[in-house]
Amino acid sequence: MMDIYSDISALRGVGAKRKEMLEKIGITTVNDLLTYFPRAYEDYTYIYSINDAPLGVNVCVKAYIGSVAREHYIRKGMTTYKLDATDGEGFMDIVFFNNKYAARALKLDTEYLFFGRVTTYGRGLRQMTSPQFAEAGGKGAGIKPVYPQTAGLNSAAIEKLVKSAFDACGEIEDCMPQSIRDGYCLMSRGECLRNLHFPESADLLSEAKRRYAFEELFDLQIGLSRLKIKARQKSPALIENDYTGDFINSLPFKLTNAQLRAIEDCKKDMASGVTMNRLLQGDVGSGKTAVAAAVIYNCVKNGFQAALMAPTEVLAQQHYTTFLKFFDKFHIVTALLTGSTTAAEKRRIKEALRNGDINLVIGTHALIQKDVEFANLGFAITDEQHRFGVNQRAMLNAKGKSPHVLVMSATPIPRTLSFIVYGELDLSILDEMPAGRQKTETFLIGEDVRERAYGYVKKHLAQGRQAYIVCPLVDNEDDPDADVKASKQLYKELSDGFFRGYKPALLYGKMKPQEKKAVMEDFAAGKTDVLISTTVIEVGVDVPNAVIMVIENAEMFGLSQLHQLRGRVGRGEYQSTCILISDKKDADSSERLKILTQTTDGFRIADEDLRLRGPGDIFGSRQHGLPNMKIANMITDGEIVRETHTAAEKLLKENPTLEGEEFNMLRKSVNMLFAKGISLN
Ligand code: ADP
Ligand code: MG
Repeated sequence: MMDIYSDISALRGVGAKRKEMLEKIGITTVNDLLTYFPRAYEDYTYIYSINDAPLGVNVCVKAYIGSVAREHYIRKGMTTYKLDATDGEGFMDIVFFNNKYAARALKLDTEYLFFGRVTTYGRGLRQMTSPQFAEAGGKGAGIKPVYPQTAGLNSAAIEKLVKSAFDACGEIEDCMPQSIRDGYCLMSRGECLRNLHFPESADLLSEAKRRYAFEELFDLQIGLSRLKIKARQKSPALIENDYTGDFINSLPFKLTNAQLRAIEDCKKDMASGVTMNRLLQGDVGSGKTAVAAAVIYNCVKNGFQAALMAPTEVLAQQHYTTFLKFFDKFHIVTALLTGSTTAAEKRRIKEALRNGDINLVIGTHALIQKDVEFANLGFAITDEQHRFGVNQRAMLNAKGKSPHVLVMSATPIPRTLSFIVYGELDLSILDEMPAGRQKTETFLIGEDVRERAYGYVKKHLAQGRQAYIVCPLVDNEDDPDADVKASKQLYKELSDGFFRGYKPALLYGKMKPQEKKAVMEDFAAGKTDVLISTTVIEVGVDVPNAVIMVIENAEMFGLSQLHQLRGRVGRGEYQSTCILISDKKDADSSERLKILTQTTDGFRIADEDLRLRGPGDIFGSRQHGLPNMKIANMITDGEIVRETHTAAEKLLKENPTLEGEEFNMLRKSVNMLFAKGISLN
């Protein structure tokens, strides 16, 4: 008897030509065929009478044929064949186009099951066009598979092949260990595959889908975990002594428990002798920088250099200022290296990095240029990592000999997904905000009350606070009709008008780095009070005295992006406000924007964003290289993602190399998954 890994040509009815056709749709083994699932099912378990059949959907109707076929020539190449059908109460036409054979196959006064859509024409007369049919009394009703068709292989042909594969294979071996099948109530693989092709009932079909999704996600997670274990390299950067206490005690605030936990996670990793690969995920304002600082401090005190890469000049500059303050009392030589660093300064910094005189360098992409070399880089950190390509991160890491790696991100990824999306990284989550933070209140208003919103801003400026106004565009001069706000025009309009006497400033991405830096510095120092900008301020900017965030044309931004922008306020002791201005009245926009007025939980917002917009954004932002799933859906199968995660972790803990007979099939199927080109970075 053949097994499921046999070549497809071992199957009766698969000759050279068939084999070639099947290869085109990715089927080379019997297993490939058995997992070539129907794209849909037609449920004919319920048999309707003609009059009761719902219109426009696929149904099964039982009726007698009451006439011979009438042929109508419509035009060249188009002939219809019509027959009368009745079930004693109702009447319908059975219609075929150009299909004489089907029409003639139907015998007068014989009862059939017709599969197809009932529609009406004229004064409510019923008809079914091009139905499938089978003589009543015989087999035929039930749930029928509909396969994706290809040239030369229609759905019926594939169905026949699948049936013969089941016959040829007999009992199908299970790749899922018995203990897990029992623990999670999963049907056997054989029953699962049979029901995915030929469901016995809708319930069994959904059980089968669950079992197969479980198998896919389980294999994936076992595979990812094993990759992760393999990726752990020995690291020469042994951070054995713990000096973090000195740094933590020097801080003007008390770290949250979440921050302390994250620091512990890093310390443990870095003292272990293998490289750390860790993601620090925390909502805006959760205090990721302080965590990084404690770990950097420890790394430097243990004799290694550290590098921190930020995606924008503004952010690098701000980190630099922050770290100078953090390390004020300590002897840690810190440098800033960005595109706008002068040539002479660049040369000096590079020299000092090479001979180890600089302990910490903060910068932008400038850090990953070829001629930047380190004496002994032990720790590489990237902030807001979603802004970097995987390659850029790898380039920074390559500057040292297997340095420890920490990536920080405020992009909340739904919890169920993060360990798949960030497969090779361990995860620390800051799920707790620093004490004393005021919740930022969020309002959604229409254009008609913009003036009132600006009045509210003015009131706060008068009290010495600061504000941001963000527009979707920089410039709309060329398109005066567009009713989308642009920062340049709004800046002009407001400085000459509503905000006369105040100190507005303008910031956008294309400004020269030096100008941008000056604008940010002035704003941080309180020399200007209302910053009108594009989304350049989205990432990481920290000015605790800024308490109002106004966002123009809010409907043009993604939810997670709006959440990031909102995170620019509420960073100090003052009650802060976010005002979303939007005149878009359609249900979608307002449903989306309302979520922001209801919650400040970044993870919930990410979930909603995902629900409303689909996974494109999240998965688009990273080349994750994950394989396509046939049944499982990483977004909607959150429950199964969680279950398989737990199950995989538990199994690998007990049996890291999957030793033993019981796991032969599992090992094989995980290896196959990876052979099919799954790659992580
Ligand atoms: P993010 O996680 O968004 O990068 P930051 O690291 O910029 O957040 O921290 C936001 C602000 O909170 C900073 O001003 C920082 O000094 C402050 N901060 C960080 N941790 C704490 C804490 N435990 N208690 C009070 N303030 C804190
Ligand atoms: Mg930050």
